[in-house]
Amino acid sequence: MEKIYDSQMNVHDFIKAMFEKNIVSGLGALTQLPDNKGISYSLLSDGFDFQKCMPFYPVMPANAAIAVSKLTRETSPSSPIAVFLRPCELRALIELTKIKQARLDNLILISFDCSGVFPFKDGKYPTEDTLKRYDQSIKEAKINDTIRQVCKGCENYQPEGADIAISIIGRGVHESLALSFATEKGKSIQEKMGLTASEIQPSTIEQLTSDKKRNKQELFKNTQISNLDELLDVFDTCIACRACSYVCPICYCKNCYFDSQTFQYYPENYAQRLNKKNTLRLPLDRIFFHMGRLSHMGSSCVACGMCSDVCPVDIPVSEMFKAGGQNIQGVFNYQPGQNLDEPMPLVTYQEKELHEMED
Ligand code: SF4
Ligand code: SF4
Ligand code: SF4
Repeated sequence: MEKIYDSQMNVHDFIKAMFEKNIVSGLGALTQLPDNKGISYSLLSDGFDFQKCMPFYPVMPANAAIAVSKLTRETSPSSPIAVFLRPCELRALIELTKIKQARLDNLILISFDCSGVFPFKDGKYPTEDTLKRYDQSIKEAKINDTIRQVCKGCENYQPEGADIAISIIGRGVHESLALSFATEKGKSIQEKMGLTASEIQPSTIEQLTSDKKRNKQELFKNTQISNLDELLDVFDTCIACRACSYVCPICYCKNCYFDSQTFQYYPENYAQRLNKKNTLRLPLDRIFFHMGRLSHMGSSCVACGMCSDVCPVDIPVSEMFKAGGQNIQGVFNYQPGQNLDEPMPLVTYQEKELHEMED
């Protein structure tokens, strides 16, 4: 296990020090926008008032892996940029890097043990009171009862593969940061920051992990689908807006298959289908879209919860994809975003594994 250091700095001091020591020339993080115009993942340079950075603020207006992918897809930044990412965002970024939709050169990945985010459905930020209770749950290493459903059952809430990992659970967000440096890049930053002393003990989180596992089992039980009728019931109110795929960090295709010529229908196609059934629910292919999406990206679903958050009719999309994704990932013995060097199953699958999926 990596050593954990008490940095003696809060998050704002830490960000400032990284700029002052020329470790970074830019920063990606959740930030209070100028004139208090809301909170958004933003790219910041030296000179910004870093007191307005809020990397631990418990909302996810968008999965930040999408922003980092757009920033780095064509070419790497010319000088180092640090990006704060929650563990599920970090895993999504690793998946995107595997399929050449992002580059990690000159990026410093900073993540932290995550206590989850609040649903952002109506675009409202958590109230002061809600935030106080959330901070308290971090200190006590407990699950807040109003965060996203998938966060309550998220057992991968600790960062893997970050250059700098921050431990806040059991400590709180306003304390001095407890840092660990797992990678070569991270270790060189540790040296530049002069963090050599004050090694500390990690917090006890066994109970939290076991509560999260129990919640996950509960969530899977509630989303179990055993036949087509049950599946149709879950997606019965789907209005086919596709918002769930637009916000998904893993649904990266520039030209979605469901917009291809294959799905351009002519009147005779409708007539043929109508002849078979007498009723044709429109638009066509609603359920096929979800099944197609699951089969395309289920092995890489990082269960971030964005798709449920944006669904206008409250379908538990991410709960369904977390459960379905985990089944697919289990067949291939694959953990999305865990290891950059592990190839994606859909690139390396063997025919016998597909038979297991059919079963
Ligand atoms: S799913 Fe929720 S708890 Fe898990 S890492 Fe993402 S935001 Fe944090
Ligand atoms: S399917 Fe939903 S939960 Fe899974 S990665 Fe995409 S947006 Fe996140
Ligand atoms: S966001 Fe909801 S309504 Fe829109 S396509 Fe996805 S499941 Fe259907």
